[in-house]
Amino acid sequence: MAQLPNSLEARDSAVQLHSYADARLQEETGALVIDRGEGIYVEDINGKRYIEGMAGLWSVAVGFGEKRLVDVAARQMEKLPYYHTFTYKTHGPSIELAEKLIEMAPVPMSKVYFTNSGSEANDTAIKLIWYRSNALGQPQRKKIISRVRGYHGVTLASASLTGLPNNHRSFDLPIPQVLHTTCPHYRSMKKDGESEAAFAKRCARDLEDMILAEGPDTIAAFFAEPVMGAGGVIVPPEGYWAAVQPVLKKYGILFVADEVICGFGRTGNMFGTQTYDLQPDMMTLSKALSSSYQPISALLINDDVYQPIADESHRIGVLGHGYTGSGHPVAAAVALENLKIIEERDLVGNVRAIAPLFQKRLAGLAENPLVVETRGIGLIGAAELSHETLAATPGALGAKTNATFQEKGLISRNMGDAMAFCPPLIITEAQVNEMFDIAQSSLDAIAQSL
Ligand code: PMP
Repeated sequence: MAQLPNSLEARDSAVQLHSYADARLQEETGALVIDRGEGIYVEDINGKRYIEGMAGLWSVAVGFGEKRLVDVAARQMEKLPYYHTFTYKTHGPSIELAEKLIEMAPVPMSKVYFTNSGSEANDTAIKLIWYRSNALGQPQRKKIISRVRGYHGVTLASASLTGLPNNHRSFDLPIPQVLHTTCPHYRSMKKDGESEAAFAKRCARDLEDMILAEGPDTIAAFFAEPVMGAGGVIVPPEGYWAAVQPVLKKYGILFVADEVICGFGRTGNMFGTQTYDLQPDMMTLSKALSSSYQPISALLINDDVYQPIADESHRIGVLGHGYTGSGHPVAAAVALENLKIIEERDLVGNVRAIAPLFQKRLAGLAENPLVVETRGIGLIGAAELSHETLAATPGALGAKTNATFQEKGLISRNMGDAMAFCPPLIITEAQVNEMFDIAQSSLDAIAQSL
């Protein structure tokens, strides 16, 4: 892509520092300028159409151009464009959305705390966990365990939870209270001759060993995504959660399920928590909560978490935390309408109906010699690539594949050399075939060229 002078690409490169990009490369090549969207498709400023195979950033569940969300936002803007939830004030949309989330929660939850991003929800979770430990007279209980390749965001604390080198390198992270345990990726982490079941048990043993080495009374919480997303779509091995959860229970460690990607249907149930029979004490939600039409996220806490926090705020006189945009009325109204659409159109049912074809087509990519593994569940998956001539530069084959997909009208995302697929939940069987036809022919062309 060459940038024409005064083009939108050139103007963009002149003024924006972008996320997850090499800034020098961006100065040279510019970015793809997306202009509009409809259903599972987006269009660039030159009128070229793409399948949005990532639903934006794993998030646009109901698809692009959903008029009901536009209308509800406009109505709320006219009535009350902004209000907050600080200092004994509140408003209807935040109340209704909180009620709805408590009702939908797959395990008993007591309170909702609204934030604006997944990172903020996880950051707030850590702060409230520390606050609670102090309230309980356990000031030493502050360490948090997450997992290598887990993704929980990019603020100081949530980036620390994230177990990926690019989120730590040169940022002086992670903070010292955060520890990372074994990534449950069987193929890359298994020992010689280790079965999947034995590997799952070893993951739980590694976790317990870490807890014992650190001192069980110093560990406050464990954060995990039911299925890892941005770390490469890692579906846990059979028996993993059944082995891990008793370890947390044994040492009284809070379990925070990061449902930012899995929440609202992605894995074939409303929550990943149901797919894997989890018993979290806290849940973080975002992305499909509003289909990303508005930035909003939520932290759900159970009563065991809430009561000490309430006591502590009473002792101090105030809970000294909150964002200007917490529970924003327009974002809350859009999220509520979005959840209505997910329920009315039975998008969870659609995921279940479409998933067999999606997973079959994904698995079919493994016929290509470049694909060393495919993995997925529901409407999320990844194809891991490898080629000896490009092996010296990790991510080079992924980047090349990403560019080829894009040329052929498919937006995916390469996480290193793993290509992700995470389309809007409204996708049809014909569109699943259209998406994987592009992926397959692109991979075939690349395999031939190498
Ligand atoms: N948790 C998970 C599981 C995520 O996938 C993400 C975003 N990809 C986040 C947290 C962070 O969310 P945000 O980008 O809104 O801060």
